Amino acid sequence: MEKYRLLREKLLRDSVVKLEQLVPATPASDVDLLRAHDRRYVEGLRNHTLPEKELRPIGLTWSPQLLERSLTSVGGFIAATDHALKDGFSALLAGGTHHAHADRGEGYCVFNDFAVAALRLLDLGRVKRILIIDLDVHQGNGNSSILGHREDVFILSLHGERNYPFRKVPSHLDVALPEGTTDEAYLEALEGALRSITFEPEIIFYQAGVDNLREDLLGTFHLTFEGLRARDRRVLKYARGTPVALAIGGGYASPIDLTVEAYANTFKVAREIFSQ
Ligand SMILES: [Zn+2]
Repeated sequence: MEKYRLLREKLLRDSVVKLEQLVPATPASDVDLLRAHDRRYVEGLRNHTLPEKELRPIGLTWSPQLLERSLTSVGGFIAATDHALKDGFSALLAGGTHHAHADRGEGYCVFNDFAVAALRLLDLGRVKRILIIDLDVHQGNGNSSILGHREDVFILSLHGERNYPFRKVPSHLDVALPEGTTDEAYLEALEGALRSITFEPEIIFYQAGVDNLREDLLGTFHLTFEGLRARDRRVLKYARGTPVALAIGGGYASPIDLTVEAYANTFKVAREIFSQ
């Protein structure tokens, strides 16, 4: 949990963002949540009436604070998508909760921020097509179960074939890579995947998980800081004027400072590219 605070502090300390560029997130409303989630699930979480066995796969203990944090994290990503449409780029210093399904959470994900924000923008007619680039080492099974059948959304996922979730839900384009994947092989696979996409989005949601770092405890890849920087540069250049809303995704290195450093590097690359 402390990585979120450490990232915020680091971005300010390294002058990557200014205090006035940070906007506090507000909780998502039920109207927004119910576009992606079942009423029973949302109400069960709000009222703490979900049976314990349904909460267990989330891996976090229910508390009023967890509920508030989960709602606020989704609200933050919704705001990031609005800011991205206005300014070209915006990011949430949290989120990327791609394992949450319509009727259940899992893998530390309570609500699915990308699905909620995507269905909101489409519903409100703000955009017609959304590209999700999910580069967390874990496959976004929740994104795929909620959005994988849609034609106005395209999900690209690059992930570890031997990583959680062990039952993957098909995305529009899944690239599963073996254990020990290095910078070179990873960047080549990313390049090939991006080149093959013919979908023309009006906004890109980028799940920039850094749990593919070699030192990560929950990942199977061997990427380095330099490899991750190259990855981010490639994705953000691919956008070429298409607005990008970013969420930081997973990161569980030991020590956690390595994860925070990797997240901060993503923001440095974004600053480099979007200030040009
Ligand atoms: Zn992950």
